[in-house]
Amino acid sequence: MIKFNEMTLKEELMKAISDLNFVIPTEIQQKSIPWLLENKHDLIALSQTGSGKTAAFGLPVINTIDMNSRDIQAMILCPTRELCLQITNDFKSFSKYMNNFDICAVYGGASIQNQIDQLGKGVNVVVGTPGRVFDLLKRKILKVDAIDKLILDEADEMLNMGFKEELFGIMKFTPKNKQTILFSATMPQDVIRMAREFMHDPHKISAGHENKGAENIKHYYYKVHARDKYYTLKRIADMNPRIYGIVFCRTRKETQEIAEKLQSDNYNVDSLHGDLSQNQRERVMNGFRKGHIQLLIATDVAARGIDVDDLTHIINYHPPEYPDVYIHRSGRTGRAGKSGTSITIINYREEKRMKQIEAKLGKPILRQAVPSGKEVCEKQLFNFVDKVESVVVEETQMEGFLNAVYKRLEWLNREDLIKRFIAVEFNQYLEYYKDAADLNYPDDKKRKKKNSDDNVSFTRFFINMGSSDNLTKKALMYLVNRIKVKRSIDIGKIEILSNFSFIEIDSRYESKILKNLGKMKHNGIQLRAEIAEEKKPVRNSDRNTDRGDDRGNDRKYSGKKRNRKKY
Ligand code: AMP
Repeated sequence: MIKFNEMTLKEELMKAISDLNFVIPTEIQQKSIPWLLENKHDLIALSQTGSGKTAAFGLPVINTIDMNSRDIQAMILCPTRELCLQITNDFKSFSKYMNNFDICAVYGGASIQNQIDQLGKGVNVVVGTPGRVFDLLKRKILKVDAIDKLILDEADEMLNMGFKEELFGIMKFTPKNKQTILFSATMPQDVIRMAREFMHDPHKISAGHENKGAENIKHYYYKVHARDKYYTLKRIADMNPRIYGIVFCRTRKETQEIAEKLQSDNYNVDSLHGDLSQNQRERVMNGFRKGHIQLLIATDVAARGIDVDDLTHIINYHPPEYPDVYIHRSGRTGRAGKSGTSITIINYREEKRMKQIEAKLGKPILRQAVPSGKEVCEKQLFNFVDKVESVVVEETQMEGFLNAVYKRLEWLNREDLIKRFIAVEFNQYLEYYKDAADLNYPDDKKRKKKNSDDNVSFTRFFINMGSSDNLTKKALMYLVNRIKVKRSIDIGKIEILSNFSFIEIDSRYESKILKNLGKMKHNGIQLRAEIAEEKKPVRNSDRNTDRGDDRGNDRKYSGKKRNRKKY
């Protein structure tokens, strides 16, 4: 293994590295730093986020800068403002003992004039997002004819985010004889095409397995009903009281909704998505980086700039569409030698995608059982006991009160006291998880078994709307699921007729359904729910419209509390 002091780096850089406590070069640093110090032709480096790649290109770039010149000698392009600032800060740390080194970050969403002023003073290195860099080049403010190193950082992400036009445009402004260095976590076709077009016989290095996740990440998935995903997420959070991670969602709307629900359930979370203003984004990101927020609910694009080393968990609320995205997301945990966990919550339709991800990842993604209510309570309880054991007792500050408290509690023995302290802390938890359902999606074997011995009592409701009011099964399920209960509501058979409908719902929620569905509207029409127990007159228009049910409509609506098997 080659060490930093064997790499012919300048003394000032070595001092900075030592201040940063970098002792052993990471794999990508071992492979790229010596090569870049000795070679001038193009390089493609495959490495994951968090692998130490900023220093892998940053140290050789700074090492070769001529500080006496005020020309821009190196330019780094990266996908987001946050990464741009991160790279700039890293470069500042690496170059802190170099007197004349200047770097400027240029990115969208901030005053262009300030950036123009900074560039005007003359800098050695520019770090920028493709949109702003291209803009400054077209305005002839940014001059890059003297650059001899162009670094494309997270090239796959830049292309994913639609920066192709800007990247190709920028390339045309740069000198032909420069060295192009491309860092990417994955090598999709777009990146290969770009490399073919703009790079000359590049040397290739790869740290770890190409496209493979870090070794110290455990990969699991939970299979549940789609409607139980939120409750599964809560169990994951409850099961890991010290969790610090990112929950990836599909859309901005979903991100916002889940974050709001978790906040109202008293979880320490916030959301990050494209609908937030720059100020809001910054506030959330700072809170997260400092560890004030435990779980960040985010979309892929919004989470891109987050560079935190000690994330314990990555949670995918759905399996991502592309395996590469999964690898990228999970690579945000298990960084800098730490271990991490990547959990994906899937429904039965998403299992196939999980298999594709597993194949690309090259290691097993194990199905795990969603923790039961009892397991969660046990975990929380022992976490509390740990805290009790390790808390520092400031006796001197308590002195004034202790005797009075001892006296007050003297009628309680040790066991009673412990029980009461636990009750103070845990009653709410124990209550919440008292009848907690098994959230695991039953596989076929289990399903059959459950059918025979685990009945759920359903009540059949009459609903005053049908397909002529544009009511669909999905819309009706959505309305039912809007009713707040401790977990999701089991729904049985749904029949949408022309002018009215029937739905079977877990009988435990009978009064809640009657009360709450009656307050809702569908397409502006007030909903009415009744228990379907009496024989109702059938309108002609409803005859023969009951798709898939050949019993017709002239029948008793006698579904009340009939037992239906739960699967
Ligand atoms: P990067 O992939 O450049 O974002 O780096 C990920 C994290 O690893 C950053 O917090 C770096 O400061 C840290 N890091 C980079 N190189 C080393 C090293 N050789 N030893 C320890 N930490 C490092």
